[in-house]
Amino acid sequence: METKQFKAESKRLLDIVINSVYTHREIFLRELISNASDAIDKIYYKTLVDDSLTFEKDNYYIKVIPDKENRVLKICDTGIGMTKEELDENLGVIAKSGSLQFKKENELKDGYDIIGQFGVGFYSTFLVADKVTVISKAFGSDEAYKWESEGVDGYTIEPCEKDSVGTEIILKIKENTEDENFDQYLDEYRLKAIIKKYSDFIRYPIKMDITQR
Ligand code: ADP
Ligand code: MG
Repeated sequence: METKQFKAESKRLLDIVINSVYTHREIFLRELISNASDAIDKIYYKTLVDDSLTFEKDNYYIKVIPDKENRVLKICDTGIGMTKEELDENLGVIAKSGSLQFKKENELKDGYDIIGQFGVGFYSTFLVADKVTVISKAFGSDEAYKWESEGVDGYTIEPCEKDSVGTEIILKIKENTEDENFDQYLDEYRLKAIIKKYSDFIRYPIKMDITQR
């Protein structure tokens, strides 16, 4: 298995994301949910233009699954998924983003939406995770692939098993440090609050099993 390097500009941007944006780490969840929603939109549009397909509303949703014991947070969607090539192209180059646009300088100053404005949505995962795994099966394909990265050092892609079309983002959440609490991103109620704060307008169901008392 070969480890591929992020493109140069991606590396620089990734450094910016990981090292200079300490505030608002929580926005990683907004970015992942918005990508999941976009992916479901794409499958929805396919059903609109193809009479042989129907959109069964109940089959399309986003699921957030925290696992405290293993320090893993999963975000699953039943969207269009990604082929091997798409995993490589879409997740391998940060500046690829369609939303990449430097906005007016004064808007960048407070750093509030800096990640959204840099268009490095997916990479915000490294604000809270030290390893990111993406398992995806594309619509119309019977192969699934696993993309994995620990950040600036690059990423790997290999074949794997996945039954249904869609994408699973698996975040290995960082250990707490003296001044930062990462446990919160494994807490059901905290996650629920973050979803409410940033993703209330998403038009597909966002599911989470509540197991805490
Ligand atoms: P943007 O959403 O602005 O394009 P991102 O960094 O958030 O930038 O995502 C990069 C690309 O990766 C997306 O445009 C999309 O093609 C792909 N992608 C990310 N997450 C998913 C997902 N859950 N399902 C399908 N494709 C995805
Ligand atoms: Mg995005």
